[in-house]
Amino acid sequence: MPQDRSQPTAALKQARRAWNLLHVDSLQARRLAERSIAAATSTGDVVAEGWGRVAFGYHLLYFGTAAEAASELRRAIGCFELGADRAGHLLASAALARSMWRSGRVREALDAVLPLRDEGVRVLRHDQRGVLLNTIAGCYSALGDSAQAFAHMFEALRDAGPSRGRGFDTVLHCNLSHELMQIGDSEHALAHVEQGLAACSRLKNARLLCVLLINRVACLTELGRAAESLPDVRTVMAMPADPDGRGSMEPAFETLAIAALRAGELALGAQLVDTARASGTSAIPDERIERITATALLCLAHGDATQAVQVLQACLPDAGLDDVDGLSTRIRAQFFGVLSEAHEAAGDAAASLAALRQWQRLHQVQVQLASRARYQAATLQTELLRLQHRLDENDERRRRTERARSELVQINAALSHKIDEVQALQEALRQQAMRDSLTGLFNRRYLNNTLPMLFALAQREGQPMSLVIIDLDHFKRVNDTHGHAAGDRLLAAFGDMLTEHGRRSDVLCRYGGEEFCLLMPRTTADGARRKVKLLLRRWRAQRFELEEDTLEGLSFSAGVADTSLAPASPDALLKAADDELLAAKREGRGRVGVATGAAPVTMAVQAI
Ligand code: GH3
Ligand code: MG
Ligand code: MG
Repeated sequence: MPQDRSQPTAALKQARRAWNLLHVDSLQARRLAERSIAAATSTGDVVAEGWGRVAFGYHLLYFGTAAEAASELRRAIGCFELGADRAGHLLASAALARSMWRSGRVREALDAVLPLRDEGVRVLRHDQRGVLLNTIAGCYSALGDSAQAFAHMFEALRDAGPSRGRGFDTVLHCNLSHELMQIGDSEHALAHVEQGLAACSRLKNARLLCVLLINRVACLTELGRAAESLPDVRTVMAMPADPDGRGSMEPAFETLAIAALRAGELALGAQLVDTARASGTSAIPDERIERITATALLCLAHGDATQAVQVLQACLPDAGLDDVDGLSTRIRAQFFGVLSEAHEAAGDAAASLAALRQWQRLHQVQVQLASRARYQAATLQTELLRLQHRLDENDERRRRTERARSELVQINAALSHKIDEVQALQEALRQQAMRDSLTGLFNRRYLNNTLPMLFALAQREGQPMSLVIIDLDHFKRVNDTHGHAAGDRLLAAFGDMLTEHGRRSDVLCRYGGEEFCLLMPRTTADGARRKVKLLLRRWRAQRFELEEDTLEGLSFSAGVADTSLAPASPDALLKAADDELLAAKREGRGRVGVATGAAPVTMAVQAI
């Protein structure tokens, strides 16, 4: 399927994310790489497939075997050839070279990766260039050329930069610590391991953690502080050998064994030597020699000096040669150091001295290496410090932004809380504007607004609407005799009674003091009268237990008018009802007057 190069496909985006997460979150990187490969193969997207395979191949370099990685990377190269993607091709080839060095073919690896350098610098993006340069550094390191290794690490670091770091600083601390150890500067090496571990705590990469811990174990052993490394030894041993943990690569069991034996942990040392042996012959010369050294140390610990000497001497042809690719001066020096100890323990002072001389010679080589590499090592360390500084600054800036953001969130929350409060307040005010607080009925203002509307509606519909005005009788006496609070209680009770018996369509208002007004849509004056009479009976029947007295037999007077009887205006309707009320009062109270269009007529309820 032809690909539109200007728009990255979903599979390609996924592959790139996998690449970016290689050091940051190894397991997630692996998942994304696998998914992108599956998606790309199903759509025939060769470029995306290539990038997915490169990411997966790099992952396997750390977590799988060299052979697994190589097979994945070859397939990636095939994809990039088809898709004519040079950047991908270069990175996959660099990784392939790395897999050669991982399988012991160090010189071949350097020969394969060096020719990629010039084109890589032109074609690759910063972080990718960093990966290529770091691979070259690794090859030089394995060949014992620390000066070149440092120089390339330095360039890699400059290219990667902090914003594109993606855990690359951790990798560099790790590699730098290894290289410093190779040139005999274990103190500085240890400092970089510590920095690497601090940076690693922000990543999800157990393999990187594992390698850093192994480096710490090696540093501490070199510094004669093997006992301090025992917790690390145990941590590494406890890490599972899967992509969740340290990967399937063996975690330098021989290095751990030497540390344990130097720390006097015989059983642990023996267990580690066994495990190292069980993993078969290593392709890496350093590992082979270190394993022999560990085995000899174990013999010495068991008091078998002769056996120790035998084991070491069997390996002398290898360890004694100066120019074996992949065999480092440090490991050889360590070998001769133990050989000298073994001879001495076996009582052969002359042989012990000869081995010691070898050790001394190698030490001098290491010192020369160090002096040649010192400048590069120093510049690299400075650059790494600068990077660390910039990363810290970035972190600080991010923290500041996060702080500002969280303050903003708080302010927003406070603000929306305030808005809620204001809205609730507004609602309360609206209610207050419409309602009477003592009875909960509508107030006079509401009545004034509503009456004209309901009046007009009744007119338009040709339906009657009644208006009732109620005034409690002799209410002043209640207040005077029983107090204002008792009066309030009665008013509230009267409101409740109205609400209880009113229709939903009725508008029940407290008109003022002890006066009430009811608007009853679709109700004739006659209907309203019946309802008000019922209310009067109820009101009479109510008993109020007051503190020292009981109140009962209360009454009110009311006037009723409806729109058919007083059709002129709302005011005329009000007035008609009010006139009836006044007439009811005049005629002795406790009665309901109904406007008939003629003179007011009232009826005494008692008489009914
Ligand atoms: P009438 O039968 O002629 O209506 O006599 P009345 O005593 O009811 O009439 P008047 O107008 O003389 O007195 C009304 C009383 O209602 C006076 C006032 O103290 C009382 N009143 C008005 N508003 C309230 C209130 O909110 N609470 C209390 N407790 N009393 C109120
Ligand atoms: Mg009154
Ligand atoms: Mg009254």
